[in-house]
Amino acid sequence: MLRRTLRFVISFVMVMAGMTAGVAATAGTAHADGCYTWSRTLKQGATGADVTQLQIRVAGYPGTGQVLAIDGSYGPATAAAVKRFQAAYGLSADGVAGPQTFSKIYALQDNDCTPIHFTYSELNRCNSNWSGGAVSAATAKSNALRTMWKLEALRHALGDKPIRVTSGFRSKSCNSAVGGASNSRHMYGDAADLGVSPHSLCTLAKAARNHGFNGILGPGYPGHNDHTHVDHRPSRYWSAPTCGV
Ligand SMILES: [Zn+2]
Repeated sequence: MLRRTLRFVISFVMVMAGMTAGVAATAGTAHADGCYTWSRTLKQGATGADVTQLQIRVAGYPGTGQVLAIDGSYGPATAAAVKRFQAAYGLSADGVAGPQTFSKIYALQDNDCTPIHFTYSELNRCNSNWSGGAVSAATAKSNALRTMWKLEALRHALGDKPIRVTSGFRSKSCNSAVGGASNSRHMYGDAADLGVSPHSLCTLAKAARNHGFNGILGPGYPGHNDHTHVDHRPSRYWSAPTCGV
């Protein structure tokens, strides 16, 4: 909590410094963030690892039914996602990722790069090292991080009330043990089961359509009356008949 407060203070100082300068400062200032520091303003046409890092964090804002490609190339879809992210947090929505946008992202992430309201341990109750799934441990963990940023967007859109993850990554043996489907996306690390929280399962299933999930299974779909499942399967499959999804 202290760290977060400190980060906020630093962000505030940076914003004030930018205002004093009177011009749009480029994001060149070193930042107190243990995860990642952007060193330039990003806009359409930019490419690189810093664009990829940005895309991971705005991928929860692709527009209804869309999925943002995490490809390191800042095209129109990335600009639109940045705009939605900016609007969601009350920033001026110009689709250009500069100091204010990065400050908001720093405020939203922990030093391990997870968004502040979700943790790796929450997304993996199966084992300690992400091994034994359908992809490499590194890929499974990276997929879980992408999932968490989308969940953070979903959480914010639903009024910043808690979202409860009941199952995330599963090794093949963990998946068998809980009776998961043999091709379950949980073995890829890119799925999350959401339990009843302040939000109903239908509220979650419906809202998830706006936040970059290709797979959404909820009430009325066999085996999903006690949770809403979201994932990143290759093409869209949404089914929550009880909710009209
Ligand atoms: Zn599931």
